[in-house]
Amino acid sequence: MARRTKIVATIGPASDSEVVLRRLIEAGMDVARLGLAHGSIDDSLERFRRIRAVSAELGKPVGIMVDLPGPKVRLGSFGDSAVDLPTNSTVLLYPGRESSDASALGVDYENLLSDVHVGDLLAVGDGSVTLVIESVDGDSATARITHGGPVQGRPGLHVPSERLGISSPTPDDLVKLDAFVEVGVDMVAFSFVRSGADMRKAGTEPHPIGPLLVAKIETRAAVENLQGIIEASGALMVARGDLGSELGIEELPHVQKHIIRECIALGKPVITATQMLESMVTAPSPTRAEVSDVANAVFDGTSAVMLSAESAVGHDPVNAVATMARIADRADQEFDYDAWARRIRLLRSEALGDGPARITDAMTGATWRAATEMNVDAIICISESGFTVRSIARFRPSMPLIAFTPLEQTLRQLTLSWGATPLLAPHRVESLAMMDHLVELARDSGYVRTGDTIAVLAGGGGDGHQAADVLRVVIVK
Ligand code: PEP
Repeated sequence: MARRTKIVATIGPASDSEVVLRRLIEAGMDVARLGLAHGSIDDSLERFRRIRAVSAELGKPVGIMVDLPGPKVRLGSFGDSAVDLPTNSTVLLYPGRESSDASALGVDYENLLSDVHVGDLLAVGDGSVTLVIESVDGDSATARITHGGPVQGRPGLHVPSERLGISSPTPDDLVKLDAFVEVGVDMVAFSFVRSGADMRKAGTEPHPIGPLLVAKIETRAAVENLQGIIEASGALMVARGDLGSELGIEELPHVQKHIIRECIALGKPVITATQMLESMVTAPSPTRAEVSDVANAVFDGTSAVMLSAESAVGHDPVNAVATMARIADRADQEFDYDAWARRIRLLRSEALGDGPARITDAMTGATWRAATEMNVDAIICISESGFTVRSIARFRPSMPLIAFTPLEQTLRQLTLSWGATPLLAPHRVESLAMMDHLVELARDSGYVRTGDTIAVLAGGGGDGHQAADVLRVVIVK
């Protein structure tokens, strides 16, 4: 059976050529992520078009997710070679300065001096270097490096989110969002959101017409307001880099499990991100701990696992994707499908909504039960918005899940959904004969075989007016 857990790979200088993109897709990349914190919009649009072209050439749908930087604070450039910031040394922080060295750090945040307080702990990059503010003066702040190490380029500076006076999305995010909505981007990730209200500021059309909005959970406030954020979002990302700096790294495994459970219970895909195979930025194989981390994220129920620097700037992005695909595939085989479904049925919440969404929710539960009791060979799910597919994916059915949709945008948005093999339907399903036709198409494309028993669920999407209200169990002719 095809791998169930999806792979998101960040595209950067090491992976943005046509040749490498082609090999990344062949190695198992389901979703390509474009970080918009660096480079120009035009460069990112160019990468976007290249990914679309290679995906079309290979005939494999690949979702594209752009990641808006939000109020991310960065240090002025250290240049291309590593600069050591020794433990216990003292540094001065200057807002507005564009360069940094071992004694003076530029910070691209004008209000730094009014927002940080003495005693605040700040983290550089993904937390490998930390510093504590010791005094705040007229034009600079003095800090002591509590944990030193090498830095280069323009690393991020994690300022505790409750101190930041700017909220997400920023005006610059909204400009970038518009540019990518115009070209039909599939998913947009929002950084440093604190509430559902932040997500609603996007103001885009609901998916699938608009992009699937992905909330990156990386602030304390976002963890506290999780339910509201899940309800206002199309998917979530456990952004462990900044989240670890914000909460303390020892909290991460527990928060990761909690976020994944809440998200899946409400039928929203969730991505586990950051440092999953970090050592593969330079090494040909991951550490044993990294292999366990990816497998454990699968066991936690994550919909997708993500590569950041490994695929964006690493020495062998294709190997990183192929390695992740092997680990996820193996973990999928060991996943405890029965225990998961039992737990999800207990977690089912009254918050799932009314009307078509509620019908679809009940029908996907019924489909999962019928499919499991009859041990069918596959589930075919027909959906316009993708809602029905995401809803049935909550139960983690152990058999293949074939997701037909007549909408290309939905097709690409389903690349993020656990277990779904998205296929384009040549027509909407308005009759039983049309359902039969899609079953024939699945058979002709080799996804099911003559004699297979399959469950077929048809629906228009709980976000729209048509619910998934037809379930049939058929033998493939
Ligand atoms: C993170 O902080 O873990 C993350 C995914 O965000 P970014 O890569 O944009 O820092």
